[in-house]
Amino acid sequence: MSDHQTISELTAAVRSGRTTASDAVAGCLQRIDTHDRVLNCFRETWPEAALASAREIDRRIAAGEDPGPLAGVPIAIKDNIATTTGTTACGSRMLESYRSPFAATAVRRLVDAGAVPIGKTNCDEFAMGSSTEHCAFGATRNPWDPDRVPGGSSGGSAAAVAAGLCPVALGSDTGGSIRQPAAMCGIVGVKPSYGRVSRYGLVAFGSSLDQIGPLTGCVADAALLLGVIAGRDRHDSTSSDHAVPDYLEGLDEPVAGLRLGVPKQYADPANDESVNRALDEACEVYRDLGAEIVEVDLPLTRYGVATYYVIAPAEASSNLARYDGIRYGRRATLAAGENLDDLYARSRAEGFGPEVQRRIMIGTYALSAGYYDAYYGRALQVRRLISEEYDRAFAKCDAIIGPTSPIPAFRLGEKADPLTMYLCDVYTLNTNIAGICAISLPGGFAETDGATLPVGIQIQCPAFDETRLFRIARMHERAVTHGRRRPDLAGAAGNGS
Ligand code: GLN
Repeated sequence: MSDHQTISELTAAVRSGRTTASDAVAGCLQRIDTHDRVLNCFRETWPEAALASAREIDRRIAAGEDPGPLAGVPIAIKDNIATTTGTTACGSRMLESYRSPFAATAVRRLVDAGAVPIGKTNCDEFAMGSSTEHCAFGATRNPWDPDRVPGGSSGGSAAAVAAGLCPVALGSDTGGSIRQPAAMCGIVGVKPSYGRVSRYGLVAFGSSLDQIGPLTGCVADAALLLGVIAGRDRHDSTSSDHAVPDYLEGLDEPVAGLRLGVPKQYADPANDESVNRALDEACEVYRDLGAEIVEVDLPLTRYGVATYYVIAPAEASSNLARYDGIRYGRRATLAAGENLDDLYARSRAEGFGPEVQRRIMIGTYALSAGYYDAYYGRALQVRRLISEEYDRAFAKCDAIIGPTSPIPAFRLGEKADPLTMYLCDVYTLNTNIAGICAISLPGGFAETDGATLPVGIQIQCPAFDETRLFRIARMHERAVTHGRRRPDLAGAAGNGS
């Protein structure tokens, strides 16, 4: 398998016998061997299990069977999504050796469709972060410039796809963790509508915000993967029974009379100049394709950071209470005379890194008696207003277009102050707050200090309007070449020096 094949190219080659699933998997493992000592996308790979599954796919094809629409497609899984192979560590010392007794529904559906999971990708601890630096197993590096972050928290998945280490990957998005790393690595990333994909087996961070979604090299691959993982699941009562359409059908049809809304608040002069240029260019592309660009108003955009950073930590503080050192996860060794409270405190202090501890403290504070109404209750009110604001905007347009991130990939260590990191999420958080769907697409490049860095464009659509989201994204993809450019991995090969 060559680097950067699409799913349809790969599955056609596997089905016709031009290549085999075994070769596809072996090719990925080999590229990981060459490049991942520097990039650190993978926490672990599963050569034996993956090659055994691939051989089984090959056997079935040889026997004339149909192993499914993803026959022989190697896929990487973010470390916070449960797999029965290997560990599900969530980038945390707390779960370092945790083996899940069950697989996430999304993973099971992929495997049933013929995909071959090859390993777990690094992420910010419990998916809390925007850079993949807060990972207990080391930071992931950006394949476009290894001195820079890949974005986060699904940075390992995004960097692996961008570097051609695997064709596609799963990530999770609570406030931007699929779209922002996709933007910073120059690939496609989708945050499905809340309820579109089962959260069963996704280690909970902010349960009212979390969704699993695909990271891919092109729009069609994202559409195909979402079609496989989406749909009602009896293990997740928040999964929707909205029918799952064939997202590939009519993908290339022009969306007639399209109206694209650009919120006044998005072309902020504080954005990197390359980001505003990419947005202008995308509008130009759509105008040339016959779409109408209209201005819409989302004045609450600026309250997204404050709202999200109350709701998400509040939910996290509740979700992470289960890691008590007793039931599962890391258990501290007690000194003589220490009691059960010491065990809880020590296990949690040893198991959780600083960013996770910060979130638990913020969330606990926001939910505590006397502060609940002022913080959590207020944040829920703003959440409602943000949703209503989107409804008003979508009455005037079919989709909203804007930046994914206000800046391209930054240097490792550059955003040491948590607030400056949180502020980078300004364009992605409100999508989750409102439960709608969004995609990040390659929108151009920034030339910064000798590095060529990808810049993303984000499109948002109303909940369960993924079909339109993909069509609009595909129109842009066909008209530009940004998504075809790949990083030069010369700086990411060799011995990790
Ligand atoms: N960057 C955001 C955070 O740190 C979003 C993370 C995510 O989507 N998982 O919480």
